[in-house]
Amino acid sequence: MGSGAATSLGARVGVLGAGQLGRMLGLSGRALGLELTFLDPNPESPARAVGELVVADYADEAALARLAGLDVVTFEFENVPVSAVKALEARSKVFPSSRALEVAQDRLHEKTCFRSLGIGTPPFEAVETEAELLAAIGRIGLPAVLKTRRFGYDGKGQAVLKSEADAKAAFAKLVGAPLILEGFVSFQRELSIIAVRSALGEVACYPLVENHHQGGILRKTIAPAPGVSSELQRAASQHIEKLLAHLDYVGVLALELFEVGGALLANEIAPRVHNTGHFSIEGARVSQFENHLRAILGLPLGSTDVPEPCAMLNLIGVAPDPRAVLSVPDAHLHWYGKEPRPGRKVGHITVRAQDATTLAERVAELEKLIAS
Ligand code: AMP
Repeated sequence: MGSGAATSLGARVGVLGAGQLGRMLGLSGRALGLELTFLDPNPESPARAVGELVVADYADEAALARLAGLDVVTFEFENVPVSAVKALEARSKVFPSSRALEVAQDRLHEKTCFRSLGIGTPPFEAVETEAELLAAIGRIGLPAVLKTRRFGYDGKGQAVLKSEADAKAAFAKLVGAPLILEGFVSFQRELSIIAVRSALGEVACYPLVENHHQGGILRKTIAPAPGVSSELQRAASQHIEKLLAHLDYVGVLALELFEVGGALLANEIAPRVHNTGHFSIEGARVSQFENHLRAILGLPLGSTDVPEPCAMLNLIGVAPDPRAVLSVPDAHLHWYGKEPRPGRKVGHITVRAQDATTLAERVAELEKLIAS
């Protein structure tokens, strides 16, 4: 696609989904002179501010035909129907592919893929009946985590099992959906790595970042993750590079990991720009959003270096005073144009500092502001 239409100035990019990820893609795309068209059933979608919004179901034929007429199509929402992406693939360039989406949508396929590539995972088994669940617990042991294979996000559709009684109660709640049982990992911390592969095969990895969740929702990312040895960074980069190659992947891919006793276990992938990469807008030389667009357009990738310590704090259901946030040195506020509601990601703050101690002080100040 070296000299194809998609690489020309003013290329037209279609995006399935128009949430905050789409909005941030759009902000980057505007700077590159791209024209973005989003498809989302929600007329209030945050990305409406940065491109044309087609309001329709993801499976809507007429809406898909409009996207198919553009230079390249991508997605920012992981649960778009694979059938819609396949229909688009038959008519236009779509990155990442429906195959990558298919693997990422099902925790069993995802973990089987990790295993086949020699990437460590927690022990896991597919479960359909209560008898299978109890038998799997016999092999994997307790505590364990029971998850729906599909459509889980932000900790939804999963339960930690400490006893057989927990298992029966959780099964009764989740029954009907295909399930996966995983061993509970007593991790030291949660890490993730984001990498990008271009349509021309160029690959770049951001440094490992450290993530803090509460109630299954990401609250904070520290980039780069402190105290990462060069071996650990290399292991993470090798894992994600294997995935990129195996899936013949084009675009940004995120890999969520657990650090356990100096080793890495893979939890899940996201075939899109990712919340743990939001820091990169101000924290990296080139953001995950710009690099995703460069990748799908077959343009050279930008540097993934993170020149100084950086943190990202999610704003979940709260709207802090922008004056107070922006009075913290090197803090940046991102607001997604959504109505604050409990549990809803409505914005984020990025903050940088010259050293880790100053960063920790700034983060503490911002966390206090968010809590008040
Ligand atoms: P997930 O939806 O798989 O990303 O899970 C949400 C959060 O639940 C993760 O970020 C972890 O904090 C926790 N979690 C998920 N799977 C496991 C596991 N097998 N062992 C321990 N904690 C887990």
